[in-house]
Amino acid sequence: MYLYNTATRKKEELKPIKEGKVGIYSCGPTVYSSPHIGNMYAYICWDILVRTLKYIGYEVNWVMNVTDVGHLVNDSDTGEDKMEKGAKKEGLSVWEIAEKYQTEFEENLKDLNINHPDILCKATDNIKEQIDLVKKIEENGFSYQISDGIYFDTQKYIDYGKFANLDLEKIKNGARVEINNEKKNPSDFALWKFSPSKTSGLPKRQMEWESPWGIGFPGWHIECTAMSIKYLGEVFDIHTGGEDHINIHHTNEIAQGYGAFGKTTANYWIHNAFITFKGSKISKSSGGLYTIRDLIQMGHDPLSYRYLVFGSHYKRGIEFSIDSLKSAQVALNKLRSYKTESLGKVDEEFQKEFIDRLSDNLATPEAIALIWKMMKSNLTPEIKWATLLDFDKVLGLNLANNNSDFDIPQKVLELVEKRKKARIDKNWAESDKLRKEIEDSGFLVEDLQNSCKIRKLK
Ligand code: AMP
Ligand code: ZN
Repeated sequence: MYLYNTATRKKEELKPIKEGKVGIYSCGPTVYSSPHIGNMYAYICWDILVRTLKYIGYEVNWVMNVTDVGHLVNDSDTGEDKMEKGAKKEGLSVWEIAEKYQTEFEENLKDLNINHPDILCKATDNIKEQIDLVKKIEENGFSYQISDGIYFDTQKYIDYGKFANLDLEKIKNGARVEINNEKKNPSDFALWKFSPSKTSGLPKRQMEWESPWGIGFPGWHIECTAMSIKYLGEVFDIHTGGEDHINIHHTNEIAQGYGAFGKTTANYWIHNAFITFKGSKISKSSGGLYTIRDLIQMGHDPLSYRYLVFGSHYKRGIEFSIDSLKSAQVALNKLRSYKTESLGKVDEEFQKEFIDRLSDNLATPEAIALIWKMMKSNLTPEIKWATLLDFDKVLGLNLANNNSDFDIPQKVLELVEKRKKARIDKNWAESDKLRKEIEDSGFLVEDLQNSCKIRKLK
């Protein structure tokens, strides 16, 4: 298996620490709002990594965190905690908001047929581990205290900017407007933040803990270092994340590992590119903030999104549109239609080529192209289907199950849209009337918190 390692900027052969076993840590969701298709894109990429490794015979231990505290609105360790802000917005407690969106995230994993990580660990369940790690960094002389918290002194780590190729001088010069001017260097980051004092006039935090330095909460980066080493050891194989994590989050994780243990925690750091919408990063201003629930509500099979993701390499990213999702659905339905009554033998030549393509830094577009080449070959339908099902162990497209729930006629989709509008207008009589019409067409609408699901009546 060859993977592009951001740390060395090279495609490298994977050499696991323990023969036959691979430990993977993936930066997980911040659970303050619904995950959008961009967030879920990353987890589809890492699911393919895990499935490919298992397919070629490795035992994999996949660890993912859930950020339920400490991720501040600004990357410079200032501003509100995203969780506290999200909770206020919805009139719920921080704990409720964390549970609500972790549940939605796990539901999305199921809908996208992403394997549940072996360990899904919450930052708030690992506060002691984070405090212990900060203590270690402090004992080794890599931290200092200022009025709002304990900070990592990035100047003490000579290679600080190396991982992301950062121009530290430029960062310094560009940081004159930095709000936190007590920091020794603009790139220094919080390991532990103090809760606002009673006299500050700021609202009391819902999530805060005692620590040797005073009541407060962990900095965002410390959770990933603490939990990855807790579950995978001080040095483990692979660390994954979105490419947005290279400059700050992973750079800081690497610094923390060095400060605590004098070494880099992971051997391979791999990063996915972004999914875009109308040429820009998916965001409130550019649009495209669809959630998986939205896609389902619009009548799309979530696995068509999974298929769409495979069409472009994870280092390249992908441009999303509803039209491309529809094309993905057509292709997926076509693959499902190759089903045969009996199974042949898996074709070993195609299987070898499939493994070769995925082992080359997870070349999913090439793997998909190979599938279509096989479908056009003169193998028997039974061999084709058996080989396809074998590949589906990696692809996870659920090819054997023709998902008729997503075979929804346009007329029904229009009724669902109308009903959605009626509900927004609180016109319950109209909404009930439309529900009846939808049922008469053979479909059932199930209302969720912010959306709904459509299912075929059995
Ligand atoms: P968050 O829940 O905000 O911490 O985000 C989870 C992950 O989603 C981040 O680490 C990003 O790398 C990833 N992400 C966010 N937007 C996109 C996008 N448009 N394309 C791919 N990955 C994304
Ligand atoms: Zn992380």
